[in-house]
Amino acid sequence: METPRYDVVVIGSGPGGEGAAMKAVKDDRKVAVIERMPRVGGACTHWGTIPSKALRQGVDRVMEFRKHPLFRSVAHAHTVGFPDLVKYANRVIDKQVEVRTGFYDRNRVEVFEGRAKLLDAHTIQVETSGGNTEWLSAKGVIIASGSRPYRPPGVDFAHPRIFDSDTILAMPFTPETITVYGAGVIGCEYASIFRNLGCKVNLVNTRERLLSFLDDEITDALAYHLRDNGVVIRHGEEVEEVYADDNGVTLHFKSGKRIRSDALLWANGRTGNTDGMGFDTVGIPINSRGQIAVDEHYRTVVPNIYAVGDVVGSPSLASAAYDQGRFAATHLLHGECETRLDVASIPTGIYTMPEISSVGPTEAELTAKRVPYEVGHALFRNLARAQITGHTTGMLKLLFHRETLEILAIHCFGYQAAEILHIGQAIMSQKAPANSLLYFINTTFNYPTMAEAYRVAALNGFNRINSE
Ligand SMILES: Cc1cc2nc3c(=O)[nH]c(=O)nc-3n(C[C@H](O)[C@H](O)[C@H](O)COP(=O)(O)OP(=O)(O)OC[C@H]3O[C@@H](n4cnc5c(N)ncnc54)[C@H](O)[C@@H]3O)c2cc1C
Repeated sequence: METPRYDVVVIGSGPGGEGAAMKAVKDDRKVAVIERMPRVGGACTHWGTIPSKALRQGVDRVMEFRKHPLFRSVAHAHTVGFPDLVKYANRVIDKQVEVRTGFYDRNRVEVFEGRAKLLDAHTIQVETSGGNTEWLSAKGVIIASGSRPYRPPGVDFAHPRIFDSDTILAMPFTPETITVYGAGVIGCEYASIFRNLGCKVNLVNTRERLLSFLDDEITDALAYHLRDNGVVIRHGEEVEEVYADDNGVTLHFKSGKRIRSDALLWANGRTGNTDGMGFDTVGIPINSRGQIAVDEHYRTVVPNIYAVGDVVGSPSLASAAYDQGRFAATHLLHGECETRLDVASIPTGIYTMPEISSVGPTEAELTAKRVPYEVGHALFRNLARAQITGHTTGMLKLLFHRETLEILAIHCFGYQAAEILHIGQAIMSQKAPANSLLYFINTTFNYPTMAEAYRVAALNGFNRINSE
């Protein structure tokens, strides 16, 4: 049988694979995508970003309804359980799949359903779910096979009360109590979702602070609001044994403590999808986390094979994976790519309740580097728009250079923080003198808006240096 020949074969249809495939096809190349799942979109669409954000939006709506003075009297009659939220999330997933399938169809990118394995640097074997085998040949290959939750030995993930972030979407009940083990971004987001759904939540952190890569003031606020909302946070705990029976799950910790709850969500680490994909045959090394090492152009040690997205490790974000895919395809096809992903300028969007977003260094990092910075704060509770919408929890914090007034970092938490951040990011990414605190002081903002927080924070910081 003849082996179809492609300019580029992409493995995986998550944001990394999609970005790569779309860039290559727009450059008039013959492109194929191999996806082992029946529907395109990757973990991002089916188990990660999209479902978790849809669940969060759903629960946020329920909370708003329950708390709103106009609906308070009728709200108690409506109960919403976790399976209801999942149904809502599934509708969003279906829409996303439809949109993404359209991209491949319209651009004539062939999508092969099956498990890809490299036979050599130019030949890929596809084993379809129906048991057939096909072979594709390609000038260049881009691996975007993503990652999956890490499953430690000794935890029985087949037990109906033990879940990870992939399987939680199939939980058929609403637990009265749930333990989330791992307080990284995914753990904190799910702790917020379950607490706001009315579950009693234990959030177990293996470290001493929540999300320690964030600014201290922001993580303090997150810890305060999670606790204020009823989440029990345990820092510095390490599990020794997980025991599950028909009625619940008990975690025994090395500290001697014990927590029992109706369900366990294990959210502690991820591993790259690289097993059985022929990397040993082609000579691409895989590290202990299942990840592939790449250079600044996303090239592996084999010059025509690139890798992008979660399978190459940090920052492990859908937002970054898409750009990495485009940049890798550009370099593969043209031998150069002028744009680089500047990891330090990638914003963080964390959809806890309250939401968190930031770009740029923390106060501690600036202090360590001896940068003379000043801070401007705006508390949401003082903004007219926040008072009108009732979303008064939150703060915008601008870090700026005392002498040049250049914006150095933006840290925000509260309603719509992930959106609000981008206003400041647009100014912060300009070259001097356009990147200046004065932009926010001298520009008229719509009123009332949440964006007004920038004016308030800028004035707060500016007045602080001027009153010295
Ligand atoms: C709960 C959760 C919430 C998240 N929230 C956010 C968020 O809010 N914002 C954000 O930016 N990021 C978020 N992320 C991270 C984001 O989902 C990932 O960074 C993103 O999905 C990575 O994209 P990718 O293209 O590398 O891989 P993936 O999206 O994982 O896609 C990889 C694809 O490759 C396929 N594949 C694997 N092996 C093979 C093979 N051998 N043959 C064929 N196909 C194969 C898989 O089936 C999959 O479809 C979240 C993740 C999780 C788990």
